[in-house]
Amino acid sequence: MKKLSERDKKYLWHPLTQHKRHPTMLGIHRATGAILIDEDEKEYIDGIASWYTAMYGHCNPQITQRVAQQMLQLDQVVFSGFTHEPAIALSEALMEILPYNQAKLFFSDNGSTATEIGIKMALQYFYNKGEKRTVMLAFEEGFHGDTFGAMSVSGLSSYNGPFEQHFIAVERIPVPTSETIGKILETLEERLKKEDVAGFIYEPLVQGAAGMKMHHSEHLCRILRVLKLNGIITIADEVMTGFGKTGTNFASDQITVKPDILCLSKALTAGLLPMAITSCTQKIYDAFYEDEIVKGFFHGHTYTANPLACTAALAALELLRSSEIQSHIQRIIKNHQEFNKLVKDHPKVESTRQLGIIYALDLKTQTARYGNLRDQLFAHFMEQGVFLRPLGNTIYVLPPYVVSDAQLQKVYAAILSALDIMP
Ligand SMILES: *Cc1c(COP(=O)(O)O)cnc(C)c1O
Repeated sequence: MKKLSERDKKYLWHPLTQHKRHPTMLGIHRATGAILIDEDEKEYIDGIASWYTAMYGHCNPQITQRVAQQMLQLDQVVFSGFTHEPAIALSEALMEILPYNQAKLFFSDNGSTATEIGIKMALQYFYNKGEKRTVMLAFEEGFHGDTFGAMSVSGLSSYNGPFEQHFIAVERIPVPTSETIGKILETLEERLKKEDVAGFIYEPLVQGAAGMKMHHSEHLCRILRVLKLNGIITIADEVMTGFGKTGTNFASDQITVKPDILCLSKALTAGLLPMAITSCTQKIYDAFYEDEIVKGFFHGHTYTANPLACTAALAALELLRSSEIQSHIQRIIKNHQEFNKLVKDHPKVESTRQLGIIYALDLKTQTARYGNLRDQLFAHFMEQGVFLRPLGNTIYVLPPYVVSDAQLQKVYAAILSALDIMP
């Protein structure tokens, strides 16, 4: 039998890939804990938890066994008109940790649909009320997914550029800093006088795809306060930040003003199955609760609240709340802090930042995003047995909670040696 990396080439088209430049995919054969194992039995530490999903480790038996059991009882059922134990149990468990103002949960399949639903809820909220508010606000450089609504509110890039003329109405505001927050608030208050803005979507505290860019909770809070005072629906996209990565269950826990709508996916199911949840306040739900059928929220995906995915999410939530995982989180935070002391003054390091278990450093070299440097760094890390995906000149680490101290040291060592080979 030919190798996976060879057989792959015949029929498969991979995401976010220019195949002419990157023709070969690495065949991954299995995974366990923080380790990915390729078809030649070479091991890699999964330094980004497979895009922030497998936070409790790959193939965690505490999750897989529960799902295997559920599989024998109820696999899939229509969620319009029917309900089931895994969805209800998950809703009860999730409500215990979501921000206190969240009241209802709407299921879908991935991060993009979670934000798409949040945007549609905000737009239809005003439609149902007979108010003509059709503009969405979003941060520059944000990332909210690849469907049309989600793409529209994301920062402009080479990814969504070809579709710009089809975007929904969106206006982007700068991510605040100490220097710019005053001006941003001033401009915002002026802009809101027109009363055509429906909602604001934001990645709270950390913008993942932008290169783990971080902003101050106090600044974000001031923006949210102005929006709330003006009746704008706020949508926290916690698809990346959710479930403990920022040191609290949700990044919104660190911000006084809570969102009207909150989007979850990625770590929700611990990397086992695709699922997403858009939660909202009672106020949002009530705007759809009417005698007129058309005022309902007519959005639905075939696999909505799939019982297996709900079971995985429930098992993941129990793990998140366990003292074992919570102490892992504290341990990783300390490890990152120690590494930061070592690397922050390195001549090739421009700046570093950390929130919870998310650690990022910017290299001094200026380079186009996904340029050559990125490919060189990626190859170097893989050679060292470490899977990291640099974004432009940013190297970031977001490991599974079960990563060991020794594995973390190996990741840090790979970063240090990468600095040495850099021009
Ligand atoms: C990954 C991500 C999305 C999109 O999620 P998909 O499951 O890839 O569609 C949306 N928002 C944020 C903040 C993300 O990190």
